[in-house]
Amino acid sequence: MKQLVIAIDGYSSCGKSTTAKAVAAALHYAYVDTGAMYRAVTLYLLEHHIPFDDLTQVEQALHTLQISFRRNRRTGRNEVFLDGVNREDDIRQMVISNSVSEVSIIPMVRHAMVAQQQRMGRKRGVVMDGRDIGTTVFPDAEVKVFMTADVDVRAQRRQAELAEKGEHVGLDVIAENLRKRDYLDSTRTESPLRRAADAVLLDTTHLVIDEQVDFVLERVSAALFAPHA
Ligand code: C5P
Repeated sequence: MKQLVIAIDGYSSCGKSTTAKAVAAALHYAYVDTGAMYRAVTLYLLEHHIPFDDLTQVEQALHTLQISFRRNRRTGRNEVFLDGVNREDDIRQMVISNSVSEVSIIPMVRHAMVAQQQRMGRKRGVVMDGRDIGTTVFPDAEVKVFMTADVDVRAQRRQAELAEKGEHVGLDVIAENLRKRDYLDSTRTESPLRRAADAVLLDTTHLVIDEQVDFVLERVSAALFAPHA
């Protein structure tokens, strides 16, 4: 059967990753969490005390750092490795969420990440979630979904996710972080967060995960079985 690229973009904490992972599992496709890559770069710069505006050092870092994903056999989750070390838990912390949008704004960071993402998806058969997959990374993706949801609902979901990992953060702090990231992500010049003209909108405010997954799988069937597919 034809192998597709499925692009899932949208605002922070709309359930993109959870949906994308489940869709990839249902189709036996690869899954790439592109946000994890920007988070890994942010972690690297912070740990190496590299100021985000020191472009010489940032460029050097981009040449040096290695980002990869490996499947955790016990949980079945794809986890992010930075320079061969599992940093999945570290990149999800608030300290990274607070800085990542300032790092993902830097054009040379975007160019490096987009190039790696294009390599990861070149054989197709992939579900990729992020902010610019349908517009920049794979503008020719056969299925494009743009997710949104009420910011308070998103903050509650993110709070529960963090609490599960032992990080307890107030709702107002999380909502503020989501608003700030949405703003920075949508207003940057280089591949800003925006809905591709041919992306279908999915508002997850009142949906549960299964409904989101079914919605995407229906689009996949339509793409696979449409007369021109
Ligand atoms: O998806 P997640 O919330 O983990 O993404 C973290 C941040 O990474 C986003 O707020 C955004 O600044 C950046 N990002 C991006 N382009 C992508 C994916 C994520 O700029 N394709």
